[in-house]
Amino acid sequence: MKKIISAVMMSLAVALLSGCDTHTSPTGRNQTLLFSDTDMAQMGQASFTRMKQNLPINRNPALNAYVDCITSRLLEALPQASGQHWEVVVFDSPQVNAFALPGGYIGIYTGMLRVANTPDELAAVIGHEIAHVLSSHGNEQASRSEMKNWGLKAIDWALDMGEVEHRDMVMAALGLGAEVGISLPFGRDQETEADIIGLQLMARAGFNPQAAIALWQNMARVSGRQPLEILSTHPSHDSRIEDLSAQQSQAQAIYLKARTNSLPVCRLP
Ligand SMILES: [Zn+2]
Repeated sequence: MKKIISAVMMSLAVALLSGCDTHTSPTGRNQTLLFSDTDMAQMGQASFTRMKQNLPINRNPALNAYVDCITSRLLEALPQASGQHWEVVVFDSPQVNAFALPGGYIGIYTGMLRVANTPDELAAVIGHEIAHVLSSHGNEQASRSEMKNWGLKAIDWALDMGEVEHRDMVMAALGLGAEVGISLPFGRDQETEADIIGLQLMARAGFNPQAAIALWQNMARVSGRQPLEILSTHPSHDSRIEDLSAQQSQAQAIYLKARTNSLPVCRLP
């Protein structure tokens, strides 16, 4: 049994050392990114094209102008020359959901607008989604999935040498189960990171960061009534609200400096 585990660990270590270099996320976490930005952007674009073919797109001019207004202010607050492409589409769906794909493809479901029901609250949602893209979370997720596959191959190889009766136990011990894919939800560490970066971004864009707390309070209220896909793997509302509250004094300082009369006013239609 010990022999199998060390063989698996060895294979994983070799794969890790030879296959990739380590990156640092915007909040200083170590990230393993196995794919190029170009490959990730292509995967994001392909997925987004499929979504646009399969889901009805909201064409209401006032609603789209509202979402574009908020998105533009957030993007204006990003450091210049990032060179990142951005596209935001509003999908007609009652689901309380929003997503971000590598390459800068962001989707907002109309159901989300019932919960994020002020410009500042919607800025918290879109800021969070922009933060996922800026932090290469899609690449990190795809890389984690790839490494799990290597782990599974290493286990298969080790089990071919005998001791088949331990297979399930070894698999369980390593937390390896079903295959995960690029479209699956982000991890908790990534959610927390997107919350922190999103909060700073909305503050720099002149949106009141206090609204991020209100947003999650609204989420908590509606999630009692219906299953929310976006919430299934996210941190609990309470821990999220606690973390966002702890960040408020710093975010408020940024907000007060950024808030000026010259910012475009984004009006709820
Ligand atoms: Zn998220």
